[in-house]
Amino acid sequence: MFFRRNAARGHMSITEEDDFLDRLKALWEYQAAEAELEQMERSLKNTETRKKLIRQQQLFQNNQQHLKQLEQESVIANNKMMEISAQADALKKQMEQKDAEISESAEYDLEDLFLEDVREIIKECEGIKSAIEMNKRKLVDIMHKLEKSETDIKETLVKMSHAKKAFDQLKAAHSLELEAGKGDLEKVRANVAKAAKSVDKELMEKYKEIKQHRPNPVAYFKNKRCQGCNMELPSGVLQDMKAGDKIVLCENCGRILYAAED
Ligand SMILES: [Zn+2]
Repeated sequence: MFFRRNAARGHMSITEEDDFLDRLKALWEYQAAEAELEQMERSLKNTETRKKLIRQQQLFQNNQQHLKQLEQESVIANNKMMEISAQADALKKQMEQKDAEISESAEYDLEDLFLEDVREIIKECEGIKSAIEMNKRKLVDIMHKLEKSETDIKETLVKMSHAKKAFDQLKAAHSLELEAGKGDLEKVRANVAKAAKSVDKELMEKYKEIKQHRPNPVAYFKNKRCQGCNMELPSGVLQDMKAGDKIVLCENCGRILYAAED
């Protein structure tokens, strides 16, 4: 890509090469200003307060997740308890029925009673009794489970409330940090805007295109190497650079090469 002289720039007395090098220099300075801005934005985003803020947020979300799980378990346990209670009622009815059968048979004459039948009734009663015992144990277990779940839910809610409180405090502190950095940030942003004005439109477009996939799109060319990727480049590159009339890209990383002043 060749650049035509921009008459509006008022560089008529300067040679074509110097003009192009000036444009590259302006781009280099723009890159430095932009890097300073990015560094500042990064450090504002990575303060200890903000890191703590993110941790509290994570903590809150983890507890929220845990709470959801506890509530689901509690619903299941409640259903289970209702089921066991229903079983208890059914067993009670069965027992009442057996009691009625026993009272009925007590009125029979001795010759009408069969030993086998009596044994059968006793066996059935014992079966129902042990089922009732088992049912009671299940009920006690599930009630313990529900009590524990209730305690867990309360503890989790307390943890969530602490995390929320800490989060709010940290958020306020971080807002103050951002507020304090605002003045400097605006100054650096103004520098970037000012530096951008001196950059040739076509160079800027190329710069932005490279920036999409490479940080610092302009790299020094020094000791035969691109300082962006450290690749040694063929001697033709130096000649192209010396001609100083077009953009020379690193054939390895694609950065715009800028000659370092030795
Ligand atoms: Zn390179």
